[in-house]
Amino acid sequence: MSKRLYYTDAYTLKFDANVIERTEVDGQPAVVLDQSYFYPTTGGQPHDVGLLGDAVVTNVVVRKEDGAVLHQLDRADLPDSVSGKIDWERRFDHMQHHCGQHILSRAFIETVDAPTKGFHMGPALCTIDIDVAELSKAEIEAAETLANRIVQENRPVDVREVTLEVAQTLPIRKLPPLAPGSMVRLVDITDFDLTACGGTHVARTGEIGLIKVVGTERRKKMLRVSFLCGGRAIKDYDRKLHVLQDLTRLLSTGEENLAGSVDKMQQEGKLMSRDLRILRRDKLAAEAKKFEDAFEPVGNVSVFTHVFNDGESVDDLRQIATTLCEKEDRIVLIGSAGAQAMLLFRSSADDSYHMGDLLRGVLEHIGSRSGGGRADQAQGGGQAATVENVSAALQAARSNLSV
Ligand SMILES: [Zn+2]
Repeated sequence: MSKRLYYTDAYTLKFDANVIERTEVDGQPAVVLDQSYFYPTTGGQPHDVGLLGDAVVTNVVVRKEDGAVLHQLDRADLPDSVSGKIDWERRFDHMQHHCGQHILSRAFIETVDAPTKGFHMGPALCTIDIDVAELSKAEIEAAETLANRIVQENRPVDVREVTLEVAQTLPIRKLPPLAPGSMVRLVDITDFDLTACGGTHVARTGEIGLIKVVGTERRKKMLRVSFLCGGRAIKDYDRKLHVLQDLTRLLSTGEENLAGSVDKMQQEGKLMSRDLRILRRDKLAAEAKKFEDAFEPVGNVSVFTHVFNDGESVDDLRQIATTLCEKEDRIVLIGSAGAQAMLLFRSSADDSYHMGDLLRGVLEHIGSRSGGGRADQAQGGGQAATVENVSAALQAARSNLSV
């Protein structure tokens, strides 16, 4: 069994070791060493990366059968004796977040009595699932404030091993199920949190720098709390600062006035939309008035037909038809040509003329089967059709009226 040196020392990054087994993982060369500082993916914490000789360590996993640590490599030609080098930036980021998680988890117990049930360390965000359905902003802030106080107090973080039997006598936050006589690795944040954990942690809480809750989300009966620590929290602050600076520049206002400015813009936008709707309605009504003299008698009704070809929407057609049918005994047969040609028929005559039936009978002229309606109004279309095709449909409908 290879010695896991990171258990007792998370800070050594360079070491010498001997290859004791050569194998493959997922078709990639992999080696087992007699001792290693490389952390394998376990307990919610991702693996280290780095170098073994000239080979890049791309993944580190634990073999289930015997607990051996497999270092996956980008090449197979590794000598029997190698020097290992661990990528510090990634390791330290994991140390900050893992230790930060211990502190935040304890802080939620201390402030709202909500224990942590799950932990995930992702490349972007880290999350804990805490056993509470909902928390107020003030409650989350209280936990965050306590967590950062522990960071600022720069408390020692001690790691030690005890037997399960000894561990069971201690006030441990989380103890995994283990066989009697097993050794338990304890992580002790002085006078604040004691828990069993196999990950890598900072030696003093001050190294975490900052613990920042960046979001919460309800997950079934739990609350998922997203957080960032140290360097990642600073990068996140930087990113948010740039967004804020862009917005204050675009809106020509201070950051304290941003929400008010956006709210004002939204209100103005709503008023402008309303004004625009009114103007559009008036314009269409005025346009409709121009057609007053274009009605022709067919039997005992007056009929108007027209093809619009200027991007009129079905709402526009409806508005025009509604205006023209304010007078009785009128039938309006109009359509729009283009990519989404439409027919719209409307009647203010009696029910002996059924607009739905009339429209269905002429839809084929514009290559559509989609449409229909009531006796007084019908519409259909949606496919591309030329002015000629729409005109043919309207003329056919008009002819059918006189039958
Ligand atoms: Zn831990």
